[in-house]
Amino acid sequence: MMHIAHWIGGAERAGESGRVGPVFNPATGEQIAQVDLASAAEVAVAVASAEVAAKAWREASLSRRSAVLFRFRELLAARSGELAAIVTREHGKVLADAAGEVARGLENVEFATGVPHLMKGGFSEQAATGVDVYSIRQPLGVVAGITPFNFPAMVPLWMCATAIAAGNAFVLKPSEKDPSAANWLAALWAEAGLPEGVFTVVHGDKEAVDALLTHPDVAAVSFVGSTPIAKYVYETGTAHGKRVQALGGAKNHMIVLPDAELDAAADAAISAGYGAAGERCMAISVVVAVGEIADPLVEAIAARLPKIKIGDGTDASSEMGPLISAQHRDRVAGYIAAGADAGATVIADGRDIPDRPGFFLGATLLDDVTPEMTVYTDEIFGPVLSIVRVDTYAEAVQLINDNEYGNGAAIFTRDGGAARRFQFDVNAGMVGVNVPIPVPVAYYSFGGWKASLFGDTHMYGPDGIHFFTRGKVVTSRWPDPGTSSVDLGFPQTR
Ligand code: NAD
Repeated sequence: MMHIAHWIGGAERAGESGRVGPVFNPATGEQIAQVDLASAAEVAVAVASAEVAAKAWREASLSRRSAVLFRFRELLAARSGELAAIVTREHGKVLADAAGEVARGLENVEFATGVPHLMKGGFSEQAATGVDVYSIRQPLGVVAGITPFNFPAMVPLWMCATAIAAGNAFVLKPSEKDPSAANWLAALWAEAGLPEGVFTVVHGDKEAVDALLTHPDVAAVSFVGSTPIAKYVYETGTAHGKRVQALGGAKNHMIVLPDAELDAAADAAISAGYGAAGERCMAISVVVAVGEIADPLVEAIAARLPKIKIGDGTDASSEMGPLISAQHRDRVAGYIAAGADAGATVIADGRDIPDRPGFFLGATLLDDVTPEMTVYTDEIFGPVLSIVRVDTYAEAVQLINDNEYGNGAAIFTRDGGAARRFQFDVNAGMVGVNVPIPVPVAYYSFGGWKASLFGDTHMYGPDGIHFFTRGKVVTSRWPDPGTSSVDLGFPQTR
């Protein structure tokens, strides 16, 4: 059986803790590998190696760093198919979707190649007589990334591209459920000429996470995962003096106004609700149908469901793959049962799919869902779409604004005024207008509001550079020897 080791000091390094975790192919249900789970002592070895590398890497010129990023970008673009295949094998999402994930990660690398421009500061000549003031941004040192199972390539790339470009050494603790993508990225960084120790992978679970959160030499932690763990990571990391950004779960709503283009809205609900079997933090989980569009909209979504081809992600004709684990599939099925028991109308029941190996569940559509049902309140993270019917736009926005989460939100309408009003009113970090999954492009930043993000900076893009650097302001005088004098007063500029 395949054995997935850590990547420390520029090479694979077998774990010594004696603890391993299983890795499955969710499409077959078979265990295909085991991954080492690091102890706190092994995390300390990884951080020590990163600490040495960080000191040297911050000395590398901006153009040298940029050159490594360009080489990494070229290698990643040329071999993206390999990475997508790894993602499909361990996560289960279909190959086209895995390729899409890699492509979005690649865009983050492309953004980071511009690091010489991104690290520019400001300069004020003659702030006081003979005095210049300028700002610079410097790397933090060793920074850690802790990532979820659902984007095993893209989320690490969100973080590491900017962290490394900014001059830090990056230690990745990927999800133990689909860990191979991390090692593949490590080998690619090495091939691109990144000095050893600047990109490190420690595999593990809570023990490794806790070791990173409490290690005195880890300056910052970037986390993506579920809300309870995000909150824990934020609180523990900040209590240990670290800078932390922790992105959590979501419950994304898509409002459909009565004037929306019906077919486009139904297509979008299907794509965003069931793509990646709903295992996306930006998946649409609730369609809020406003007024008389509800009946035709539900009918149009229902009509599309039987056409979704469910199957092994390696089969090019499959559109929806399995869930990550048997346990998660059963949990999602439990939500469907709870929704039905609570009075939701089950239009399509994903539990009714033919028996097959693997962790599959069919597309589920629940109508007449109300805000107190658990299918509405909880993040399900599966192929379950709920329809909530309301009478007015105001009620629809209120639903979103009352929700615990605030990741993405979308509106479907032909009315520009209503869309603009929505953008103004809605309490969510990423907003789509006739776009169901408004993941910002790499030169903006990604992040939700409320329980979807703990911390104040969003991820990648300009916020990513900001997060992985700290500011310094230099006040400098090069006086004429003849103008020097003693003055005990506070420095004046006038
Ligand atoms: P998770 O919270 O279970 O795991 C995330 C990471 O935390 C993993 O590396 C895991 O090993 C670690 N971890 C798990 N339990 C831990 C514990 N008790 N103590 C310390 N560390 C722990 O999340 P997941 O199931 O891998 O991913 C799915 C979740 O991630 C969903 O809630 C989804 O919405 C969220 N997500 C959010 C975003 C976003 O941008 N906001 C993006 C992708 C996924």
